[in-house]
Amino acid sequence: MARYTDAVCKLCRREGQKLFLKGDRCLSPKCAIDRRSFPPGVHGRKAAFRRKQSDFGLQLREKQKARRVYGIMEKQFRRYFKEATRRKGLTGTQLLVILESRLDNVVYRLGFADSRAQARQLVRHGHFEVNGRKTDIPSFQVTPGDVVAVRSGARDLTYFKDRAQIMQGNIGAPAWLSLNLAGMNGSMVNEPGREDIEIPLNEQLIVEYYSR
Ligand code: SF4
Repeated sequence: MARYTDAVCKLCRREGQKLFLKGDRCLSPKCAIDRRSFPPGVHGRKAAFRRKQSDFGLQLREKQKARRVYGIMEKQFRRYFKEATRRKGLTGTQLLVILESRLDNVVYRLGFADSRAQARQLVRHGHFEVNGRKTDIPSFQVTPGDVVAVRSGARDLTYFKDRAQIMQGNIGAPAWLSLNLAGMNGSMVNEPGREDIEIPLNEQLIVEYYSR
């Protein structure tokens, strides 16, 4: 499976905003956006002063931003868009719902990982189950009523013991998810609504990009 392997902070610098791809580091003074807030590459500094972007440029950047936040390659993202057009409701909102319902995102939003990339790795390593069945596919779509749990064998790992401590001090899961920290599991109460998706994305621009 293809995946992005270059420095992830470059992605934030390219988009000109924090995409929170590296957990705690994103909130520390080490964040690359705080230290070098211009696009990566030899012409990065010059690019920061370039003239206004075209409509296409804006649409492209918004689509790339969404892909990068959720760590998805173009082919799969396009597939998600097609699926969103088939669903009832606004295509842009449906696209975000599909992205938010991915298992790796749910694991991250429940607080079992610091970033979506870390959540993806934990899922891939087989540490989670959905409705009692081991599920190691990060793109698995979680639906309302599904219970996502740390597998019993993984609960004794130092990572999850430490994580449980950290999670006690966290704000908790968003309203569309319900966290049971004692049981190291969580469930999807209902599909996330547009208002539950905090990432500053203009999904309409993504729809326009794919509708050209
Ligand atoms: Fe982006 Fe986080 Fe890197 Fe800052 S530290 S540039 S928010 S990935």
